[in-house]
Amino acid sequence: MNNLLIQAESYFDGRQNHSAGPYLFTITNGSIRDICVLRPGDGVPATDATTPRLHTAFVMPGLVEAHCHLFLDGGELDLTARKQYLTATTAQMLDVARSNLAANTAAGITLIRDAGDIHGVNTHLKEELAHARGVVPELRSPGRAIRKAGRYGSFMALEVSDAESIERTIESLAPTADDLKILLTGIIDFENGCVKGPVQFDLAETQLIVRTARRLGLKTYAHCNGPEGLNIAVDAGIDSIEHGFFMEPDIVKKMADKGTAWVPTFAPVYFQFARPDVTGWNPATLAKLHAILQNHFHTVAEASARGVPVVAGSDAGSYGVPHGTGLIDELVFLRQAGLTVEQVLSAATSVPRQLWNAPPANMAVGQAANFIALADSPLNDITALRQVRLICRNGQAVRPDGTSPTLASTVLSQGN
Ligand SMILES: [Zn+2]
Repeated sequence: MNNLLIQAESYFDGRQNHSAGPYLFTITNGSIRDICVLRPGDGVPATDATTPRLHTAFVMPGLVEAHCHLFLDGGELDLTARKQYLTATTAQMLDVARSNLAANTAAGITLIRDAGDIHGVNTHLKEELAHARGVVPELRSPGRAIRKAGRYGSFMALEVSDAESIERTIESLAPTADDLKILLTGIIDFENGCVKGPVQFDLAETQLIVRTARRLGLKTYAHCNGPEGLNIAVDAGIDSIEHGFFMEPDIVKKMADKGTAWVPTFAPVYFQFARPDVTGWNPATLAKLHAILQNHFHTVAEASARGVPVVAGSDAGSYGVPHGTGLIDELVFLRQAGLTVEQVLSAATSVPRQLWNAPPANMAVGQAANFIALADSPLNDITALRQVRLICRNGQAVRPDGTSPTLASTVLSQGN
């Protein structure tokens, strides 16, 4: 058992689209055993009557969310409630994180990289997931991030001060961390259109951080905005720039040369711009936000064109960015920036998996069956990603509502 037949009109294999279908995917024992083109008149191969046969418009690898904070509910817009939540018990936070995880699954996300929480909810959840049954995403977690003492990031990062504490703290994080998250700068000052405060670490300190992380086998990703911090991050050899607002063409060039990845997280800043009814920004601040976003759209397009590995991460959990749907919004923004649909889909599938040395999950014979089925092709319209019909991980499949596709024949493309 654990077999599944999927008939799809077209599919994305993790790098490129295939549209000479329909295709029949045979899933056996958690892997893709066969992919064949169905010619007119071909019958569906005989299988036992209990094998679910699913017809759908499109299949592609499960999505990767490269930057979110699982312990935070981005859909909570009441600032007082958000502040109070930071004093909740770990058990309460774990409940929120579990429901955020379910929202990720429902959106078709099968691999998540958390971006830090000081309470260690992410690490706890990772342990839970290691023993979970059913279809759940795989989770990478840094545990706690690091920041300079007294600087931005108290909700996600431990404080370090000098070289000795930098090394000691990274060593203490390494046993449970998949990657090292660094807070290299402050956040954006929307009213003044700049980064708040000076950089947290200078070049020598950042080099020490990278060196220490590498010695312990950890890749590095840095919260970083503004040219000063971005230059330090790239020069020091940080593996991935998170956010990267106020990017400049010269820095993009350096990133391309060094292979530095970029997770541009449009979603939280876009929310500030698009919802003045909630954020309360006046026209002058909205103009600043507009300029910040325009520069981001332009420089992300340039980065992609130059070969910088652009990776999709929504910063879900941030104000106005719900888990799951936030990533799909982010993919729409990447498309709006001018990336091709195949580049956008790669940014949320094969590119992060390759960068993180995670197991590949391409639609290819012999690969783990780790895919999603959609009711329409995102090649026609990227927002088709909002219509996930089935999520399959290691051969086990669920619908977004958590029910299993147990019928012998289920037509996914007609909205069932
Ligand atoms: Zn973040």
